Amino acid sequence: MSHAPPFHCPYCSDEDLRPHGEKHGEWECRACRRAFKLSYIGMLAPASNA
Ligand SMILES: [Zn+2]
Repeated sequence: MSHAPPFHCPYCSDEDLRPHGEKHGEWECRACRRAFKLSYIGMLAPASNA
């Protein structure tokens, strides 16, 4: 699953995403020809039902 495009292009919403270069987490959109990077930020805090 790590190499599957996880989502739509955030710019044009197309699904034709492909890995960009060799770096993990970088994608390019063949529809609008933008390249972008996904990065993990961190975990959400545990949900509170306040
Ligand atoms: Zn796009």
